[in-house]
Amino acid sequence: MSRLDDLKKRAVDEIEAHRDQLVELSLRIHANPETAFREAKAAGWLTDYLEAEGFAVERGICQIGTAFRASYGSGRPRVAFLAEYDALAGIGHGCGHNIIAMASLGAAIATKAIVPEAGGTAVVIGTPAEEAAGGKVLMASRGAFDDLDVAMLVHPGNRDVAVTYALACLELNVEYFGRAAHAAARPEAGINALDALVIAYNSVSALRQHIRDSARIHGIITDGGQAVNVVPEHAAGVFLLRDEDDDYLDELKEKVLACFRAGAEATGARLEYRWGEEARYRAMRSNRALAEAYRRNMEALGRQVQERDSGRSLGSTDMGNVSALVPAIHPTVAIAPPDVPIHTPEFRDVSASQAGHRGLLDAAKAMAMTAVDVLLDADLRRRIEEEFRGGQ
Ligand SMILES: [Zn+2]
Repeated sequence: MSRLDDLKKRAVDEIEAHRDQLVELSLRIHANPETAFREAKAAGWLTDYLEAEGFAVERGICQIGTAFRASYGSGRPRVAFLAEYDALAGIGHGCGHNIIAMASLGAAIATKAIVPEAGGTAVVIGTPAEEAAGGKVLMASRGAFDDLDVAMLVHPGNRDVAVTYALACLELNVEYFGRAAHAAARPEAGINALDALVIAYNSVSALRQHIRDSARIHGIITDGGQAVNVVPEHAAGVFLLRDEDDDYLDELKEKVLACFRAGAEATGARLEYRWGEEARYRAMRSNRALAEAYRRNMEALGRQVQERDSGRSLGSTDMGNVSALVPAIHPTVAIAPPDVPIHTPEFRDVSASQAGHRGLLDAAKAMAMTAVDVLLDADLRRRIEEEFRGGQ
């Protein structure tokens, strides 16, 4: 057996040896769902476990109480496994983040076992609030991912896929200010802010026909006036712009803004707007070289893994912001049949089932084996790095 295969086998054995603890903690997090930035129990259990396993733990990093970093070893390469552990309001762990957390902890514990021989550092970064607030966006801007060589996170889903996509996403808040007047007695004295927003809304609808297929623009009206017999003096809305290309999103900003200016021009209402750039999600850039290593390792465990997601990307994830800073992958591991989508009570139940446990353990093993590849294979590291820099 080659040294590489020998170390991979030891990593896998290590996960088997921790199997019961990994599953038990997954079920405990699942049974105690906590939403964005309130994941105090989960963060406490995860960091206690890592500390007991010999990791150096920093709690509350990036001025976020439930964020953490744990590391074992020293120097480069630094291989990071990202843990999510937030739940959905109402549904609980309908996105299976308990599995994400424990797969990453399992992978880190296995990597720890081979670090004394292979060198480098095994790192776990605990990233809160993926669902509601984009915790990694905040953490990325505060330097949490700056000194890493690779970052991995496996998400449970319906298929085994190595390269997944996610859309860049930017929020736009708009307000129109008009002038109130009696809607029947003195309509000529009013300036209709709702009309301005409706014109803008319809302009956006017309624009959709003439932008890339991959782009999405969707919005709601949050204020359309207060009284039916008063010309609305104020109207407001929130819109989201998305695309798989960060640069194209910037082009879209101008086009969308023109729609809102049209509403102001047509009615005389004053437009105020604000782009949520500080919370902008970047498009997911999966590192192909790293994803290919992961795919081979997962297939060695007996799963058929699709090289890339064939369907169009649908949502957005804060992992995109990580992938802009460090070579990263965000594969999916199948735990549920195709008719059980994420963010449902059914998917929540699967996340605590035998199929969920199998996904957790396989994802941990595949990531740990990929970490062995990264630590031992200088040529792979060069290809990962070149691809990353080439795409900058
Ligand atoms: Zn999720």
